[in-house]
Amino acid sequence: MTIFTKIVNGEIPCNKVLENDEFLAFHDINPKAPIHILIIPKKEYKCFQEVDSQIMCKMTDFIKEVATHLGLDKTGYRLITNNGENGGQEVMHLHFHLLGGAKLKWDHQSDSNSKEFF
Ligand code: 5GP
Repeated sequence: MTIFTKIVNGEIPCNKVLENDEFLAFHDINPKAPIHILIIPKKEYKCFQEVDSQIMCKMTDFIKEVATHLGLDKTGYRLITNNGENGGQEVMHLHFHLLGGAKLKWDHQSDSNSKEFF
């Protein structure tokens, strides 16, 4: 069972933003922006690569609903999913990071200098 399933089950508390029968949005415990929300399907899918496109259709609508709920539809936001080891995924339960509340920089140093990789 993933830590996010424990949050879904109420075994671990979260600062909830929105939920419906299939999806849950809550604040990240270690925010990287003034607004940093995690959006998950309640059912465990390991990662983006493994989720069915029909689930993603519904998840897309839910993500937009969360963004609108927070006013980020007007100001803009960044949406990220880390997929697998090289993507930096730590929790193996599909989730999207919804980041906003400020003009964000692309501050991932190692990603900004691709020469480091070659
Ligand atoms: P990943 O690196 O897998 O894309 O992101 C996992 C995210 O989950 C991290 O941003 C981390 O701060 C967040 N996180 C890990 N454990 C918890 C928790 O128990 N509660 C909340 N709200 N966020 C968590």
